[in-house]
Amino acid sequence: MRDFSRGPEHLAINQATTKGWSLEQAIEGYARHGVRGIAVWRDKLAELGLARAADMLKVHDMTVTGICRAGLLPEAEGGWPAARDDNKRAIDEAAALGARCLIVVAGGLPKGSKDLAGAQAAVIDGLAGLLEHARAAKVALALEPLHPMFAADRACVNTLSHANDLCDALGPGIGVAVDVYHVWWDPNLEREIARAGAAKRLLAFHVCDWLVPTTDLLLDRGMMGDGVIDIRKIRGWMEAAGYNGMCEAEIFSARNWWQRPCDEVVRTCVERHRTVV
Ligand code: ZN
Repeated sequence: MRDFSRGPEHLAINQATTKGWSLEQAIEGYARHGVRGIAVWRDKLAELGLARAADMLKVHDMTVTGICRAGLLPEAEGGWPAARDDNKRAIDEAAALGARCLIVVAGGLPKGSKDLAGAQAAVIDGLAGLLEHARAAKVALALEPLHPMFAADRACVNTLSHANDLCDALGPGIGVAVDVYHVWWDPNLEREIARAGAAKRLLAFHVCDWLVPTTDLLLDRGMMGDGVIDIRKIRGWMEAAGYNGMCEAEIFSARNWWQRPCDEVVRTCVERHRTVV
């Protein structure tokens, strides 16, 4: 396994972790702490402008580990066709920034629907459409399975096994994002990481921690080391499967980390990356 104890060389930060910062502040702030990777959110990107963002990322020699995000297919207003234009723009932005991947969240049930299988089938159709444009733009799509508690409202793809099956069905150009918050509980995780690695589809690795108790399913993620996930063990599985990309800290934390100064948050990410990731 790679040695992370010396510094943040392999650390990226998802900019949602430092919610108080604009994209400009995040790029400069991360660089100030020696962090050379960032996952970019599209709303923050729109505020700064694509050209200016591309310039700044280059000046600070920053790797873009992902663009957040495309997807939300079955429940989009008007279904998949209505989501298509926005998703195409997301692909173009990912291409312009040279991002390692575009994160895709599958989406949940359409309003009022109980047809889970129907939603899951719609995801395949949506992804197939998205893939045509992504392949032409040479942007890798990273399908991120979300914890099953989000099956209704955010993503009806909830295990790495399901994501791997979809990738098998769809062919080249699509891989997976492994986020410990969503998949740490899965008894098949090691096997499915190995399966994804064998198919060269491990595109991103997101880290945070699972707090006990978790008081808000979406916005109470823990800092690495503060919860019950054996992050280093899962990183070991990722690296044994061939993953050599960055480890992206992604912490949505409305009542704790979002309340603190962003420099303190980044400093803590750097320290925990060295000691527990
Ligand atoms: Zn994630």
